Amino acid sequence: MAQRPVVLVVGGGYVGLYTALRLQKKLSRGRAEVVVVDPQPHMTYQPFLPEAAAGSVEPRHVVVPLRRTLNRCRVITGAVTGVSHAERRARVVPIEGEAFDVSYDVLVMAAGSVARTLPIPGLAEHGIGFKNVGEAIYLRNHVLARLDAASSTDDPGVRRRALTFTFVGGGYAGIEAFAELEDMARYAIEHYYPRLSPADMRWVLVEATGRILPEVDLDMAAWTVKQLTARGMDVRLNTRLESVVDCVVELSDGDRFPSDTLVWTAGTKPNPVLAGTDLPLDERGRVVCEATLQVRGLDGAWAAGDLAAVPDVTKDDPGATTAPNAQHAVRQAKRLADNIVAVLEGRAPEPYRHAYVGSVASLGLHKGVAQVYGVKLKGWPAWAMHRAYHVSRVPTFNRKARVVADWALASVFRREVISLGQLQDPRREFVSAANTGRTGQLPPPRPEAPGTADEAEKAG
Ligand SMILES: Cc1cc2nc3c(=O)[nH]c(=O)nc-3n(C[C@H](O)[C@H](O)[C@H](O)COP(=O)(O)OP(=O)(O)OC[C@H]3O[C@@H](n4cnc5c(N)ncnc54)[C@H](O)[C@@H]3O)c2cc1C
Repeated sequence: MAQRPVVLVVGGGYVGLYTALRLQKKLSRGRAEVVVVDPQPHMTYQPFLPEAAAGSVEPRHVVVPLRRTLNRCRVITGAVTGVSHAERRARVVPIEGEAFDVSYDVLVMAAGSVARTLPIPGLAEHGIGFKNVGEAIYLRNHVLARLDAASSTDDPGVRRRALTFTFVGGGYAGIEAFAELEDMARYAIEHYYPRLSPADMRWVLVEATGRILPEVDLDMAAWTVKQLTARGMDVRLNTRLESVVDCVVELSDGDRFPSDTLVWTAGTKPNPVLAGTDLPLDERGRVVCEATLQVRGLDGAWAAGDLAAVPDVTKDDPGATTAPNAQHAVRQAKRLADNIVAVLEGRAPEPYRHAYVGSVASLGLHKGVAQVYGVKLKGWPAWAMHRAYHVSRVPTFNRKARVVADWALASVFRREVISLGQLQDPRREFVSAANTGRTGQLPPPRPEAPGTADEAEKAG
């Protein structure tokens, strides 16, 4: 190993950020060089994405700037496209310019997960995920723009399609996004759209299994379905999306309806970048780890978070692995950093051990469901717990203060429900002006199309 070992952290999300933060604290300047590579210049605090989409929190406040926070690390904005651990080398494609190799001594693989999609006709064209801040901003603007569209026409077909919002997947990400966005749209209609009524909206959530929110007990999941149904929302269990060609949703129960909005939150899979590495993968494509978070059979390679198969030593089942969630990701990062320091100092690494304590989910303003350490909370107390828990967890004092300030402002003034539709296509007006100069003719206005992930990234 070189005099000053290089620790390469692939991904600056939950695991990457927290690992690098701890390493920069524990390995004083000069003991190691920590290099963090991520295509985004920030970490995203994903549990706040539903609130960012609903306008309760400013989107910039749910991300943590890597360069500012990891001021003693080298941050590269780019994507790792391959790793040869045998040669201790990673291929990096920066956001601009030629790809290059980074040599390292210690690897931390923390590139997380991506949406797990299915080959459903129309899904790639009309669907949008809910994993990054660009998608959250896009959806907020899109939902509000649909209200504008519905309010500005007398065509019942256009209205119905604009006001039908379809979500697929009933985990916490899907349920929170579904409930928060409906809450925002309802508020907007009640206050600012006299030509519309909340009853004109149709919110449909499709879940392939017989229940939602697998993180809480069945009675809490059933209570949540009841609450959403009481709000006029349509939760279809044991139902699959069959197709969404030309914005017409077809479900496995035979129902068929037009919908301008299709949000896909039906699970995740390990980041496909793993296929370009020589790390051992299990049948689900996750990096096979020991309980110490070392990659099985390799020296100097570590992994944690959504892409890692980490033995869950709190369970009797020897094949059990920890679930992909923030609770594990944050704690694994801490153990991982401490274990790297231990190994660099010639000590033995310790196993990661944490029993899942439960889950909190927000279902809109003052509404929620929570089950933590066996205590079950519903409604306002659950929502308050959700906020208290997440503000205590969002990294850095700066972000905590900004999120609390957002909440305080929103409670004093009315909720902001304005669509910044131009974010979806910011160059349109300029390009039109330039083209008009050339042809002397105005191009026809472009209707706002249903989202794609690419457009969402641009909007971010
Ligand atoms: C909407 C939503 C709500 C959620 N709410 C909760 C909740 O309430 N409670 C909970 O416990 N969990 C929640 N989760 C899950 C939780 O956020 C994840 O489990 C957690 O982020 C996993 O951490 P990670 O570091 O493995 O991945 P991530 O945090 O996703 O980080 C992965 C990082 O890798 C980067 N990356 C991707 N590809 C590359 C590449 N090729 N090279 C370099 N870097 C790359 C990404 O840009 C990203 O920054 C939620 C998730 C979502 C989407």
